[in-house]
Amino acid sequence: MNAICITCGTQFAGAPKPPEHCPICEDERQFVGLEGQQWTTLEDLAGKHKTNMQEEEASLTSFSIEPHFGIGQRALLLQTPEGNILWDCISLLDRPTSDHIRSLGGISAIAISHPHYYTAMVDWSSAFNDAPIYLHRDDSQWVMRPSGAIRSWTGDTNRLPGGCTLIRCGGHFPGATVLHWPSGAEGKGALLSGDTIQVVPDRRFVSFMWSYPNFVPLSAGDVERIVRAIDPFFFDRIYGAFPKLTVATNGKRVIRDSASRYIRRLRAAAGA
Ligand SMILES: [Zn+2]
Ligand SMILES: [Zn+2]
Repeated sequence: MNAICITCGTQFAGAPKPPEHCPICEDERQFVGLEGQQWTTLEDLAGKHKTNMQEEEASLTSFSIEPHFGIGQRALLLQTPEGNILWDCISLLDRPTSDHIRSLGGISAIAISHPHYYTAMVDWSSAFNDAPIYLHRDDSQWVMRPSGAIRSWTGDTNRLPGGCTLIRCGGHFPGATVLHWPSGAEGKGALLSGDTIQVVPDRRFVSFMWSYPNFVPLSAGDVERIVRAIDPFFFDRIYGAFPKLTVATNGKRVIRDSASRYIRRLRAAAGA
């Protein structure tokens, strides 16, 4: 069986029985569920949940699990003339979802922002001709289901089809990445930001954390590094990790203003 942790949604390598622990949840950036460590499987999940599929804008479709499962993030399928990219991933891949993705042209590449969204990436890749999975090498210790489809990349940027670029920002994880999509937002450019740059309920701002569920902030230097990493790229819109959390316009200014506010609060806390 390939056990799936019910708290973080990570799928593990095949074994006769589920592992004793989930290292992703035992890490300070997640948590073990209040009822203790529990497991499920893709088959079980498919019996109790379905996928909500939403067209976000032309050539961009989101997928999230209903009712809520695991962390609750959305995956985004981005269509480009050179092939489709799946950004981030979810634990469920059922028949209606794979049929819909096939009708949109399938998946040529998978890229994931950080380990919390690795989830069932290997099943998603296998369902689409072993699509390559781009993960930053600095986070490779968190891969719980190894696969020959994984392409570990290093450095600060990596090109993908359709003029897209993976940008390593760090912060939440050393390899935490965002994806730049130049033709998004009607040609003004979009950033798909995962948890690296978190779109918050007040969509005039974003935020940055080392541990989101346990409220552990980043340093001013980490936040400045994130802003520097995305600075050379043009974009207007930001698609965050969670359903409906999108900064519709002025995304670049929103990130700069949010970083300034964050650093001001840190300096005030330090009495500087
Ligand atoms: Zn877990
Ligand atoms: Zn995360």
